[in-house]
Amino acid sequence: MPLTTEEIILDHGFPGTHRAVTVHRFGPARTDAAPRPKAYIQAALHADEIPGLLVAQHLLARLKAADAEGRVRGDIILVPYANPIGLSQAVLGTAIGRFALSSGVNFNRDFPDLAAPVADQVLGRLGPDAAANVALVRRAALAAIAAWETATEADSLRKILMGLAIDADLVLDLHCDSEALIHAYTGTESWPDATDVMADLGCRAVFLALESGGNPFDEACSGLWWRLRNRLTAGLSGGVPPLPAACLAATIELRGRRDVDDALAGTDADALVRVLTRRGLLAGDAGEQPVPACQATPLAGVDRVRAPVAGVVLYTVALGDTVTVGQTVAEVVDPVTGIRHPARARAPGIVWARAEQRYTAAGAIITSIAGDRPLAEEGSGLLTAR
Ligand SMILES: [Zn+2]
Repeated sequence: MPLTTEEIILDHGFPGTHRAVTVHRFGPARTDAAPRPKAYIQAALHADEIPGLLVAQHLLARLKAADAEGRVRGDIILVPYANPIGLSQAVLGTAIGRFALSSGVNFNRDFPDLAAPVADQVLGRLGPDAAANVALVRRAALAAIAAWETATEADSLRKILMGLAIDADLVLDLHCDSEALIHAYTGTESWPDATDVMADLGCRAVFLALESGGNPFDEACSGLWWRLRNRLTAGLSGGVPPLPAACLAATIELRGRRDVDDALAGTDADALVRVLTRRGLLAGDAGEQPVPACQATPLAGVDRVRAPVAGVVLYTVALGDTVTVGQTVAEVVDPVTGIRHPARARAPGIVWARAEQRYTAAGAIITSIAGDRPLAEEGSGLLTAR
């Protein structure tokens, strides 16, 4: 059984209602500080991205089994549904889990950037010992989160999730795309450290950025470390105390919305167990690390192919196809004239996502290609749907 299973209530709910997140924590029984390493895994922060909800249940069963066998070595937190607000949203029978209906805000944006408050706390207190510096920064980050005075239920949720994850060594945020291959987003500084994670999961595309724009959850956790270092470096004239990027965080996109079945979820949960084993959180043999299924590419290199007109989408490429510049990836049929308008690739690379809907608005993204050269500026809103 988990060491603890806890319900944390969100603040700022409506009268007569409350929402909660369930938090399972595994680790060796302890009386002093929590063990290391620490891993934090959450599912469905975008609440209508269902594969992670099922993977979390498969993972939970595997963690319980590992715990019963006494194989848990580190501190493992599993949040099986990260967004009770989104899970309750629907419009005319369609689940709406990506944006808060009350505000239009994307649930995976606007996490706090803690670099400034943490810098204020640690300035002048960092020394030559990297491990001591990491511990100091983690305490300061937890204190900064605890001091955050939220005003909305969605920010209360962000505060709870960040409070659980910000001091972790490994943070995995389970999402999915519309129709997609399994892929992931992580920090440029987390590469190649994250290679084993992506290889174990079999990711077919991995996107790197330091600033995606909008401060999603994974970047709020990992980006603290490089933003803080930049901030401290700017204020120092002499030598800079050692401060490694001590949190590997990644958004894992578990294929498309409809890729929900026990076989896939079991495969993904097995992969996560291998990751936790390889990284010392579980005792056992993770086996040989698989050969990565792809090279990492810059998030700024993603070609988001947009529909030239509104109409019916007919794809001319499949997920996993490799395309060349100028290749038609879809035709959009104008239902008034019957004219077929080609949508073409701007970058060469693998097709890793397509829009599930077969009717599109003009200008909407219908296909995504993993180009290996930047098409956009870092920090310029590299993620879709702010
Ligand atoms: Zn998502």
